[in-house]
Amino acid sequence: MTQAKSKFRAIPAVDRVLREMDEHVERFGHERISAAVKVEIENLRDAISNSSAADEKNFLFDIVEAVDKSMLASEQRDFIPVFNLSGTILHTNLGRALLPDVAIEAAVQVAQSASNLEYDLAAGKRGDRDNHIEGLICELSGAEAATVVNNNAAAVLLTLNSLARKREVPVSRGELVEIGGSFRMPEIITSAGCKLVEIGTTNRTHKKDFRSAITADTALLLKVHTSNYRIEGFVSEVSEKEIAELAHENDIPFVIDLGSGNFLDFKSYGLPEEATVKQSLESGADVVTFSGDKLLGGPQCGIIAGRKDLVEAIKSNPLKRALRVDKMTLAALTEVLRLYQNPTQLEHSLPTLKLLTRPLPEIKIQAEHLQEKLHAALTPAYQVSVCECSSQVGSGALPTSDIPSYGLMVVPQNNSDDTLRSLAQTMRELPKPVIGRISNGSYLLDMRCLEDEQGFIEQLSLLQDLLT
Ligand SMILES: *Cc1c(COP(=O)(O)O)cnc(C)c1O
Repeated sequence: MTQAKSKFRAIPAVDRVLREMDEHVERFGHERISAAVKVEIENLRDAISNSSAADEKNFLFDIVEAVDKSMLASEQRDFIPVFNLSGTILHTNLGRALLPDVAIEAAVQVAQSASNLEYDLAAGKRGDRDNHIEGLICELSGAEAATVVNNNAAAVLLTLNSLARKREVPVSRGELVEIGGSFRMPEIITSAGCKLVEIGTTNRTHKKDFRSAITADTALLLKVHTSNYRIEGFVSEVSEKEIAELAHENDIPFVIDLGSGNFLDFKSYGLPEEATVKQSLESGADVVTFSGDKLLGGPQCGIIAGRKDLVEAIKSNPLKRALRVDKMTLAALTEVLRLYQNPTQLEHSLPTLKLLTRPLPEIKIQAEHLQEKLHAALTPAYQVSVCECSSQVGSGALPTSDIPSYGLMVVPQNNSDDTLRSLAQTMRELPKPVIGRISNGSYLLDMRCLEDEQGFIEQLSLLQDLLT
């Protein structure tokens, strides 16, 4: 008791601590440092109360050190790069597509300087920010007009709100998908102010279902790319062409939410087939919407392309202003679209395509090269072997297509799930966290997306300390 009392009395005053911290005060400001000192003094009081406080001779030093530590920690960025070895190339939680250098440079340039974002340089007056991308999108897709918003969810919302507010939108029950996060097609349709009319069944929807759903109140026909799942077996869906015919017979537009938009013939790259934006427009869609940061490989945005009168109606909706993209996104998107003008170079110039088409032997060699190094860095409590695995595109693109890859498989000698989970956690505690996946009693690192091999190797030496 008396001991605690004397300890409480030994707590230095805030001003006394601040006198030891001139440099910190100069660097971080008086207010922040004195607040941090008060926090540490409070912590010390708690420690004395529960008899865990150290020697009172060190109190001053301990507080200074704790404040220094908390200031250093506060300097660490919260938003940091990670190694995506999860096997999912376009991982929504890890930021989806990686931008090409030209796109990054363009974004930096407009961030640093005033620009002609919405300024017509020839006329010397206000311009339209869509002018930077509309021509390119039309050229690549065959659309008459185009605009861009914050993401594809916004593109769907804006399109429906502009073309079908307070009116009916028939959609096949097989396409009322949930994309992840909170994008659920029925809710988006309702939030856009439209009346959802469910037609057909989960596995089968026929042309006659569309036909009988059309009333005087039907605003448009909607098709949704079932991006992230596939129904197999006794199934039937109505083709884009057939829906388009039906829509046009009834003088209403046909809208497709393509999900992951694509401008390329994927087959020619040895990848699973995926319809292009151009094909959908050619089969009669009047408006299509798609994401910028899925297969397209650009920044997060949502692209709306199609018939001029409809795109004009969409652009003049007041909601467009609320959903518009910023200048960095526009600058980056413009450069990504320009790369598509030269498709022969795309495999080298567009990171998403480069990762998707990375040669299997190259991935295998990388896995072999890293196997010993990872094994040496882990304690002998783990086995590390090279294994075949499969990568996924992710973000709902090509959901049933696995892309063969190679990885490193780590198995704890004790076969314990706890050990596996704690290994995965330790890998996430590295300065540049490593994100792998746990699968079938092993911790798997898919090498497909490992570009900075040296950076990966360099931090392995830290594992020993973290694991013990
Ligand atoms: C991914 C996806 C969306 C949402 O796109 P975001 O760009 O993530 O907003 C909407 N519809 C479909 C079919 C999708 O696949």
